[in-house]
Amino acid sequence: MRKKIVAGNWKMNLSSSDSIELFEGIQREAEPISGVDLVVFPGFLSLSLLVERSGILVLGAQNAYPGHSGAFTGEVSLAQLKDLGINHLIIGHSERRMLFHETNAFVHEKVTAALDLGFTIFFCCGEPLDIRSANQEGDYVLEQLKSGLWHLNETQMAQVVIAYEPVWAIGTGQTATIEQAESMHAFIRNQLKIHFGPEVADQTSILYGGSCNPSNAKELFACPNVDGGLIGGAALNKDSFIQIAQSF
Ligand code: PEP
Repeated sequence: MRKKIVAGNWKMNLSSSDSIELFEGIQREAEPISGVDLVVFPGFLSLSLLVERSGILVLGAQNAYPGHSGAFTGEVSLAQLKDLGINHLIIGHSERRMLFHETNAFVHEKVTAALDLGFTIFFCCGEPLDIRSANQEGDYVLEQLKSGLWHLNETQMAQVVIAYEPVWAIGTGQTATIEQAESMHAFIRNQLKIHFGPEVADQTSILYGGSCNPSNAKELFACPNVDGGLIGGAALNKDSFIQIAQSF
């Protein structure tokens, strides 16, 4: 049975003390939910403060540089994160792709390096609005999957979670409809089946991201191919994150 996951991407929000308060509040109040993994991705500066506090909440990093060490001013390496005890990583988020010009080739490099070091990766894919308007979202997402994941083997794929995040739905309050979400998730799973076979397709968790909140999580998570969510804005509030986590 593939995992159900609710993950919170805190992005560049919250001071260290606010991060600790939110993290501890969620851990205190969220009952372990059978079969649902809870993961949060705080900012780098808070990670080292939270790692000792980790219980039912798993910690991950929002980004990392694929090199081991060296002259990469301002970057944080995968090895440094590992050393801290971090094993989960977001790769290919649309904000990294668009605002920081991360190409499919760079995303590919990060995926390979992260899996080599044993990370579980949350691989983000999703189309911008103009691609959706031109009905080309399938080709667009397939290209991201091909360049980011198609070089992996079945063992490596066991360390991959896919997050489908239509760019036009991120932080906009405009959630994909249930039909749009389920149809793209089914498409992604079918592509996994064609490329890797039925077992990988069946075992890979595919999360939805894009203005997911306590009022729409239940119906999104009820879709047969939606295995949870990668949550941005609504993950910054303890109660809404917990409510989303309880929406299966
Ligand atoms: C995200 O950025 O991963 C995201 C899903 O954001 P939001 O929930 O705020 O749309």
